[in-house]
Amino acid sequence: MSSPRRSVHSTDPADQPLLEVSGLRTQFYTDRGTVTAVDGVDLSLTSGEIVGLVGESGSGKSVLARSVMGLVDDPGEITDGDVRLNDESLVNADDERLNELRGGTVSMVFQDPMHSLNPTLSVGEQIAETVRLNQDIGESVSLSAEIKRKILGAAEDSEAWRRAIEMLETVQIPEAATRADDFPHEFSGGMRQRAMLAIALSCEPDLLIADEPTTALDVTIQAGILDELRALKDAFDTTILLITHNLAVVAETCDWVNVMYAGEIVERAPTSVLFENPSHPYTQGLIASTPRVDDPDAALKPIPGSVPDGVGEQPACKFAKRCPEAKPACYEDPPTFRSVGTDHEVACLRRGTEAERL
Ligand code: SF4
Repeated sequence: MSSPRRSVHSTDPADQPLLEVSGLRTQFYTDRGTVTAVDGVDLSLTSGEIVGLVGESGSGKSVLARSVMGLVDDPGEITDGDVRLNDESLVNADDERLNELRGGTVSMVFQDPMHSLNPTLSVGEQIAETVRLNQDIGESVSLSAEIKRKILGAAEDSEAWRRAIEMLETVQIPEAATRADDFPHEFSGGMRQRAMLAIALSCEPDLLIADEPTTALDVTIQAGILDELRALKDAFDTTILLITHNLAVVAETCDWVNVMYAGEIVERAPTSVLFENPSHPYTQGLIASTPRVDDPDAALKPIPGSVPDGVGEQPACKFAKRCPEAKPACYEDPPTFRSVGTDHEVACLRRGTEAERL
């Protein structure tokens, strides 16, 4: 239903997207019927950007991220569309190629590092392991390598281990050389998330997908991690897709924002434009329901109802049942993207130059 954000006809290499998602549809087959979690999404990321994907829980953000990474598990599958990374199709890639790309060209950081980190290996060893896997350094990866290092000191000065300490320093872990020997449970929540970033970036990926990387952390630590993300983007020239339900995180961190609702992107714009002039009724509702830093006492207006679960018939505009501006046409005519300003597009029948017909 939408068009890519930038022209794919440009001959300037700087304009060529690093990641191009087009018409992506991901469905799950459940006892209750087929759930369409991602429904015809177009998304484009150019090198060096931090692009936000924001929406309520259940809007399909994480499924979209997992679809990009080739991590959709049974009973789900990508049923339509393509994901191209550096113009290579990931949807058509085999498992071997996907494994090569994951942890190499693309890395992902999840919300809960405790579930992503191996509790039986030291943090330093887990980073060194990624370095070895991606740069062909040193011995094979195993618990025995860890034990050997501890007992014999055999790999203590290995390049991979030195790189692990460097990475811990880069993500601001104090006394990195000592803390590298700690196990994940000996790190605080914020340090574990930093360690996950160190692992994800140790393979110097072109693209980092960060799925709610700060949600489990308190506000101060969250701000530190977001600062870190921005600094790391500059240091490693990594492009970042930042997935969050938190508009404040987007405002702080992202160059561009895509607002997602019920499996579809409904608005996209540069971050400053979106916050100055939110156009889609859903985006306006999200902003009105978010506490304001400049006016913490302002009354919040929650969006009534909840995100549809993607099973069965939906109105043509999936937001219609919650939308304060809905008209009968919204139940019949699927909205397509309309321009409402420079680089600012909205999928709503009541926006753009054709809106007056409603
Ligand atoms: S198309 Fe209609 S229901 Fe959907 S967001 Fe626009 S006004 Fe609301």
